[in-house]
Amino acid sequence: MDTSNPMTDNVLKKTKFKARLIALSIMLALILILSLIKRIEWVAEYVFARGISRAYAYVIGNVTSILPISVFEIFIYAAIITGIVFIVLIIKNLIKKRWIKLASSSLTVTIIVISVLLLYTVTASMNYYRAPVVLDMYDGGVDSDDYLSIGEYFLNDFNNLAASFERDEDNNIISPYTDRELAKIMREEFARLESSYYNSYVPLAKPILLSKFLSVNSLMGISFAPTAEPNINKDMPVCQKPFTMAHEIAHSLGVMRENEANLIASYITLTSKNDLIRYSGYLDTFYQIPSMIYWGVGSDAYSSFYEEFSPLIGIDRGICTEFWGSYSSFMNKISSFFNDIYLKLQGVDEGTGSYSGSYNYDIIDTGEINDEGQPVFEIVFSDVQKLYLLIYFDNLI
Ligand SMILES: [Zn+2]
Repeated sequence: MDTSNPMTDNVLKKTKFKARLIALSIMLALILILSLIKRIEWVAEYVFARGISRAYAYVIGNVTSILPISVFEIFIYAAIITGIVFIVLIIKNLIKKRWIKLASSSLTVTIIVISVLLLYTVTASMNYYRAPVVLDMYDGGVDSDDYLSIGEYFLNDFNNLAASFERDEDNNIISPYTDRELAKIMREEFARLESSYYNSYVPLAKPILLSKFLSVNSLMGISFAPTAEPNINKDMPVCQKPFTMAHEIAHSLGVMRENEANLIASYITLTSKNDLIRYSGYLDTFYQIPSMIYWGVGSDAYSSFYEEFSPLIGIDRGICTEFWGSYSSFMNKISSFFNDIYLKLQGVDEGTGSYSGSYNYDIIDTGEINDEGQPVFEIVFSDVQKLYLLIYFDNLI
């Protein structure tokens, strides 16, 4: 016998619906409040980056790092399936004109989406507004006679490394590590970042199983703060993996701005004692050295410096260009467009232009002429050039 009373059922449903509406309103209000207070640097730095977001990353990172597969990846599949189920439900309810059911399931999905957005705001978005990264930099000048010695010093290392790796018949570097092993080595490398600016817990970087989706969108990696996971494209060339891992781990340690994540990745890779990791750093940043020679010494010195490069370096660059070039540039433009919007929504005015921030240098024409009758330029070094100079003058490698 059915003892339920339809009147009581309706009241109960209405109360539940109301409660969910209130919960949704509270969450939206919280997001609004957070987006206002994140502009106060002290709040972003000490309440979130070094407080709530750090504690969250510690707890969740410890859990997700146990799993060899990416929880973020599972989350994406679950979101896709939920989306499909939701669309089917909408169509069904629309056809059958079940308006209350339609409103109820729409509310449920909205609550799920807003919950994730709130969690993302707390764990990641706030960190875009924190104080600048803390990293030692060279802040002196360079004698024009020194540029070539500096260049030779690094190029020697770069050339030797290129020749030191085991390669297959197509000259692809054979990685001595699995992705998991590399992630563990990278975790130790990050222990060298001693400042309390960074989260002390370093999560393990994870390979995305269906990395093809990343490759198609020209994505090397994705860091997702709600699961405290740095994820990388497992299919990309071996020599790009360490730098990418370092970049994504930097995000997981609270460095959300792209230029700063690149700077931290440059520091970790270029000062590493590990050959593959250091080589990956050079491949990504070495072009900063010839630029210094060009402006600091002259175009002839620049051209002869390029002649000293090992052909293997050119081969490795070619392998990377070929890999990424094999995917459609149309999809690349679409993903770059959305990334640009995402970054601007996070308060980064330059959008995707911010990736190059740490590599930008400036040239000042001093108006002087040297002994060879050439104009003398002063270089306002980029952050990565300052890093190279620090490594050279402080003998960091
Ligand atoms: Zn990034």
